[in-house]
Amino acid sequence: MIQGVCPICGKRFEVASIADHPGFPFCSNRCKLVDLGRWIDGRYVVPGVELRPEPDPAASSDEENEE
Ligand SMILES: [Zn+2]
Repeated sequence: MIQGVCPICGKRFEVASIADHPGFPFCSNRCKLVDLGRWIDGRYVVPGVELRPEPDPAASSDEENEE
């Protein structure tokens, strides 16, 4: 088992192997896409300066709207 902590949502998860979980180190493909989207947005233009992930407005602003 490989344990990981998703850098996007902070969720802990376990995978049998990285081959079984192409999205690693993200917990899901959705978080992987969120990360990719941030890169595309240019928020990570200066890596290492701002490591605090911004809350995802779609995920955190409205807790009763969980998927
Ligand atoms: Zn996640």
